[in-house]
Amino acid sequence: MFKGILIEKDDAGPRAAVRDLDETQLPEGDVTVRVSHSTLNYKDALAITGSGPVVRRFPMVPGIDLVGIVEHSEHPDHRPGDAVVLNGWGVGETHWGGLAQKARVKGDWLIPLPSVFSPQQAMAIGTAGYTAMLCVLALEKHGVGPTDGEILVTGAAGGVGSVAVALLSRLGYRVVASTGRPQDAGYLQQLGAAEVVDRAQFASPGKPLGKERWAGAVDVVGSHVLANVCATTRYRGVVTACGLAGGMDFPATVAPFILRGVTLVGVDSVMCPRGDRLQAWARLATDLDVAKLGEIGQEVGLSEALPLAGRLLKGEVRGRIVVDVHR
Ligand code: NDP
Repeated sequence: MFKGILIEKDDAGPRAAVRDLDETQLPEGDVTVRVSHSTLNYKDALAITGSGPVVRRFPMVPGIDLVGIVEHSEHPDHRPGDAVVLNGWGVGETHWGGLAQKARVKGDWLIPLPSVFSPQQAMAIGTAGYTAMLCVLALEKHGVGPTDGEILVTGAAGGVGSVAVALLSRLGYRVVASTGRPQDAGYLQQLGAAEVVDRAQFASPGKPLGKERWAGAVDVVGSHVLANVCATTRYRGVVTACGLAGGMDFPATVAPFILRGVTLVGVDSVMCPRGDRLQAWARLATDLDVAKLGEIGQEVGLSEALPLAGRLLKGEVRGRIVVDVHR
């Protein structure tokens, strides 16, 4: 037996609780992992609270991230005792995920835990941090360098935003952090933000084009915020869009794209090919100041993760939640 969060569904809707689970209940897969830590991401919070259609089959163990030790493997790349990380691939949505002491998954989904990170640090990064790195890689790929101008990070005090601020500032960019939490300005400056701005300035419907400011942007909010960010991005600037914390709509015009040559890059972490994942984790290992992860991540146990899910969706959680599944 092992412990895990299980989401079950009945006529009253989905309900999540910590349960005793049996190994025979684990789904199919060629690698069994003894999970040490998982995380609470925005998507996990939607799954646990039943606020979004994240879980595609019930019962489900949520948790889109995990780190642990291979216990049993029929996959040629993984041996018992290997330390591994998993982000996405539908775990916690269609396949039992990381918020349990054991997981059985496809070996193709696992990557080696980079040696510079402890399991806790890898989860302080988690899907949010690896997505932030994918956004940084996209900015680089589209030619935005530190000398090109300011980079705006929206939802900056959240998981993706915090890691994006830390990464971009370490790489030498001038980072402007947009947040609805002025009380967290000190935290964002400590992560490397050169300036902290109130997210209210991006929140309402805006003009098709505004004063050009950003050489690049990492947007986790969507909706009017993404539209206003595109409208204020400089000629040939690049906006990476990875989130919908403010809404899934995109009430924009084509003006920034056809008049200023702005590039809007979509970033997905879930089905991202293995090569890009390995590159993102390799760059996290070299470009992220691990000392900042202590600031970004807070650790909780399995049962504590449940009430935190609602708070995370309300934007009340700063940085990243690491879940010690044995606590
Ligand atoms: P968090 O909840 O940690 O952070 C989201 C932040 O967005 C909040 O902290 C808040 O920042 C801001 N925010 C929340 N609600 C609103 C709102 N109504 N209007 C404006 N800003 C708001 O989530 P994550 O950082 O983990 O994820 C952020 C988004 O990215 C989510 O939508 C998530 O689903 C998505 N995501 C997508 C991935 C992909 O593969 N494409 C992977 C990972 C995440 P502040 O208080 O600083 O304003």
